[in-house]
Amino acid sequence: MAAHLKYATSYRSSGNWYKGNLNSHCSEHSNCSTIPLKKLISAYEEKVYDFLSVTDHDHYTLLTEDIQPQNLLIIPGFEYSQQKHMQLIGVKDIIRLDQQLAILQANDQDGIIILDHPNWEESPHWTVEQMLELKGYHGIEIFDGAVDRMIGRSNATDVWDALLTQGRHCWGYATDNSHYLFDIGRAWVMVRAEKREPAHFLESLKNGNFYSSTGAELKEIQLIENKIHIETEKETAFRFIGPKSKIIKTYLGQLAEYWIEGWEDYVRVEGYNKSGWFWTQPFYGL
Ligand SMILES: [Zn+2]
Ligand SMILES: [Zn+2]
Repeated sequence: MAAHLKYATSYRSSGNWYKGNLNSHCSEHSNCSTIPLKKLISAYEEKVYDFLSVTDHDHYTLLTEDIQPQNLLIIPGFEYSQQKHMQLIGVKDIIRLDQQLAILQANDQDGIIILDHPNWEESPHWTVEQMLELKGYHGIEIFDGAVDRMIGRSNATDVWDALLTQGRHCWGYATDNSHYLFDIGRAWVMVRAEKREPAHFLESLKNGNFYSSTGAELKEIQLIENKIHIETEKETAFRFIGPKSKIIKTYLGQLAEYWIEGWEDYVRVEGYNKSGWFWTQPFYGL
């Protein structure tokens, strides 16, 4: 491992935090979903989300005129399901190409590409090798709420660390992947943005200016010189994690700091409190 003098942060210090889910399905356009579109929208609105993507399987779902959410912003997208699943968020239209070409096409449409639920099925949905071969995606699902009720595990931070350890820079997104009403509200992203507008959310989602959560809320996350500074509202168990999933430091409290030493090719922070888990994006050695 090389020694790094400086580290990069994807977190900006200004803006507000906004809550959103990037993986959901309605019964009109996904056979596997039991939630009608109107109910899906109202359920997320009731839970006070700022934004939602309805991502049906190979179907570009738009709201009909009788569905007009008051406070929920919709970011269009779909779940590419021709080959291994991936979220294509903010794209302009459906894409039906081979996996790598679909990723390139989604980039051409200014979309965000997230490889889905790697720990679904007893054998991995994606292997790390397959993920390393592909180019041009922004990140992977590190938590997919639906997988716990199927064969697999919702948490895929082991796969994320394997990619990061190999030097592949990618962000970690948590989602509900909602198919039943009880899937709604299990996991989401908190995006930091200057304005409550889809274009601002997309920019932050693309650049890693967000964290993932199943409940824990961050007050602050910053890199000051080479010191990671993180604050939460509630007493939290923090873990600073480096290459090969190594737990570098743990801390209990509402504020944790870690001076990166230089050997770490990346450091990320995760933790939990009585509300749930959070996962920050990695700070990369330059
Ligand atoms: Zn899927
Ligand atoms: Zn899905």
